[in-house]
Amino acid sequence: MADLLRQLNEETPTRRVAQWAGVPVPPLLDREPISPPREEPLSEQMVALHTSRDSGLASTLVDISANAGATIHISGKDVVLSPTGPHAHQLAQAPNFTAEGPGVDIKYQVLLIDGDSLQTFTALEELRGFIQPRTRYMRTNGRVVIVSRPPEEADNAETRAVRRGLEGLNRSLAKELGKQGISSNLVYVASNAFDYLEWPLRFLASNRSAYVTAQTLRVTHPDLVIDRPDQSGPGLMAGRRYVVTGAARGIGRATAEVLAADGADVLCVDRAESTAELEKLVRKIGGSALMLDVTSPAAPETLLKEAGKTGFDGIIHNAGITRDKMMRNMSEEKWNMVLEVNLSAIERMNRVLVPDALRDGGRLVFLSSISGIAGNPGQTNYALTKAGVIGFMDHYAESLKDRGITANAIAPGFIETPMTAKIPVALREVARRLNAFNQGGMPSDIAYAVHAFCAPGASGLNGQVLRVCGGALVGA
Ligand code: NAD
Repeated sequence: MADLLRQLNEETPTRRVAQWAGVPVPPLLDREPISPPREEPLSEQMVALHTSRDSGLASTLVDISANAGATIHISGKDVVLSPTGPHAHQLAQAPNFTAEGPGVDIKYQVLLIDGDSLQTFTALEELRGFIQPRTRYMRTNGRVVIVSRPPEEADNAETRAVRRGLEGLNRSLAKELGKQGISSNLVYVASNAFDYLEWPLRFLASNRSAYVTAQTLRVTHPDLVIDRPDQSGPGLMAGRRYVVTGAARGIGRATAEVLAADGADVLCVDRAESTAELEKLVRKIGGSALMLDVTSPAAPETLLKEAGKTGFDGIIHNAGITRDKMMRNMSEEKWNMVLEVNLSAIERMNRVLVPDALRDGGRLVFLSSISGIAGNPGQTNYALTKAGVIGFMDHYAESLKDRGITANAIAPGFIETPMTAKIPVALREVARRLNAFNQGGMPSDIAYAVHAFCAPGASGLNGQVLRVCGGALVGA
């Protein structure tokens, strides 16, 4: 059922009345229609970068912002960046300004914070001077992105505390700024992985991450990166083949659409009763439809046959079910059904597909849930499985490094799909509001995150659990 509060916000007269009456109207999140990523997601946008003269990250951050098409303002004590890189002309024009000086009242799209400029507690005061005035003027749907080397790389207690402290700052900013549709996220990038920072940063700074907030991503150096000389045609995913289970509707459907929009060939898998929806999808996006119950004993071999000689570039384990009951009323049937679809079937498929059908350099993406992280009354079976898939992910992230394969999990919060439409109305209304944006997410929010993990630029993202939950208060 539609979100009435959000609808109120879509029409100017009703929005005014709602605001006048003090109704907490959720912000309109700026989302792209399903499409490939833009080459310059920040074109005609302003980025304010807080950095310092001795930062080792500054020039990487400037280059990434400039590649994304942004105009950059650089703030920080004694900042002197030599304008020598490929974007020298833009740098030369970037007015260097101090924390509380010019630029305070500009409508920035992105506040980019260089954690390398924050080694001491004194630097945190400069950081406040940078953030505090600018958050008042930021654009609705803007982004705060904090980038730091990881705490464990710090060589003294003060710096380690500062870097770890950024997690608390990030989560709190996300909760404060959500009302304006502004997100805040943190990236810890290993010192030897700066080359792998661009893709995750572009994702977090773009409107493809509209419902991702209060999160921490870690970028690490991959053991192996497989170049794909056979890539052809437009789109990052061209020449690549992915399997999406549970593709007939909801998150799976949006995922198939997003991958296909970027040139991928998608094998869309769902149960026989979803044949009509699945065929309709494939007529729209191309690729192929496979009516298959993932729990059937034949599922692994059927998929192996589908993989053919070329194999798959990625497997997105999305099919999942809920059968909610409080533990005292939980029947054996409900318990087993959820474990079978959400956990056992995945294991059986992976045991066959990972060695024999997943190409080197491929991607595994698992759909977990914030229930699996925080727990939820009535969902002992479901939460067990959704924490369990994080276990799968951990295993593969570690064991497939030497094949250049990454494994990551996405933990959605409340997403508007047929699954959540079944929740009783009062409960659904509460679930929708318990996050920084005061609204549920859309299937495309998850689909863009899946795409972000599957893209060639995502080699530095491995073993991550990304919550796409609007900064849900549950388990945060
Ligand atoms: P949905 O119920 O709308 O769609 C799930 C799809 O999976 C359906 O098309 C269904 O037919 C298919 N499916 C179920 N069992 C299958 C089987 N045995 N074989 C093949 N296909 C099967 O669900 P959704 O909301 O789109 O959720 C997708 C995934 O995201 C699930 O794993 C779910 O647990 C997870 N998730 C969803 C939410 C949410 O708020 N919607 C939150 C957290 C996690």
